[in-house]
Amino acid sequence: MTTRFSNSATSTTAFDRFSIPDDQGRFGPYGGSYVPETLCHPLRELTEAYADAQKDPQFEKELKSMLKSFAGRPTALYYAERLSKQIGGARIFLKREDLLHTGAHKINNALGQALLAKRMGKKRIIAETGAGQHGIATASVCARFGFECVIYMGAEDMRRQALNVFRMKLSGAEVRGVEAGSKTLKEAINEAMRDWVTNVRNTHYILGSALGAHPYPGMVRDFHRIIGEETKKQFLKQEGRLPDEMIACVGGGSNAIGFFFDFLEDLDVRLVGVEAGGRSLDEGEHAARFEGGKLGILQGCKTWILQNKDGQINQTHSVSAGLDYAAIGPEHAFYRDRGRIDFANAGDADALEAFKMLSSEEGILPALETAHGLAYAFKRAAELPQDHIICVNLSGRGDKDAVEAARVMGVRDLPDMSLS
Ligand SMILES: *Cc1c(COP(=O)(O)O)cnc(C)c1O
Repeated sequence: MTTRFSNSATSTTAFDRFSIPDDQGRFGPYGGSYVPETLCHPLRELTEAYADAQKDPQFEKELKSMLKSFAGRPTALYYAERLSKQIGGARIFLKREDLLHTGAHKINNALGQALLAKRMGKKRIIAETGAGQHGIATASVCARFGFECVIYMGAEDMRRQALNVFRMKLSGAEVRGVEAGSKTLKEAINEAMRDWVTNVRNTHYILGSALGAHPYPGMVRDFHRIIGEETKKQFLKQEGRLPDEMIACVGGGSNAIGFFFDFLEDLDVRLVGVEAGGRSLDEGEHAARFEGGKLGILQGCKTWILQNKDGQINQTHSVSAGLDYAAIGPEHAFYRDRGRIDFANAGDADALEAFKMLSSEEGILPALETAHGLAYAFKRAAELPQDHIICVNLSGRGDKDAVEAARVMGVRDLPDMSLS
């Protein structure tokens, strides 16, 4: 049972995927730029600098070279044969973004924006981070370019991710704890925006997902499009065909949209984004924006948001910090409306099972974020015949999550990892 997409009047072929967002940053009714006046100037300056960089072959050349020699591109496309046989349905392939420097896809975007900052003559970088993956990618890139680097991180996240805080500091970053609100990612983004307004003359803000105000969602997507472009070439070369189904986990949505973008017009390829189903789909227990979310505005962007009836942002929960955010990237909402990207969700328990299964069957430890995509893929593979191909974007590696997985699995006698 596969889902096919017909060429109806509303199908994706009716428009050009490169035409969105429009010049106001809108993806249909989503996206845009809903910010205080003080942020309008830096956002406009960034929009112009990015448009300028896109026209410059030297920028592309330098980025390509850094992606290869510093980040480790291209990443492999891997057929998980043992796992596929174990499940007994469709063949499962993995796009190995986990093999990249610093452990996840995040480095693609961090490198792109760092090169942009260099062009703009900015020597100070700020960024927000939740679990720490984006902070580590940014700190690493700043060390490479000799930029001053300040990372904002919720105090609660700093406690949970003490080792990652230390890794950022080793790369020379200053990590500033944010004590406001729930002391997690949302508050860290607020602080980063505040810093940007104050220090815009010498500072660039490297936002970490396909989120926020224009030009970030489209720009971050562009820096990750390489994932899907490589995947397509590799499939044509290795298998002589495209996959039937592509699956990626969705936090803000950057790894997923980068993976999907080059396939949007290949209507026979089903695209599925997997959100965090948390402990349950009750309010406050998950981060699945398409399960109980509503249209709203958060941190500069109009999109689907988990909020209560008064418009206050809900608490969210996921076993993976990287999926634990109340808003989804606007481009995902747009393609969901058009029926081009389907959405599913996987809960904490299923993600942990998938984490264990990929580790034991293939010797590959996936990030807990990625494990959500895997959980859905394993279920799907079992429903599909063996001549079908599923490709999962393995967005990151699970080394960072081993301690958390051990805790949830009830393993005792782990070394003490708290460095404070
Ligand atoms: C940050 C992160 C995610 C979630 O972010 P997206 O912008 O949705 O990709 C997913 N997987 C890994 C490994 C991450 O580090």
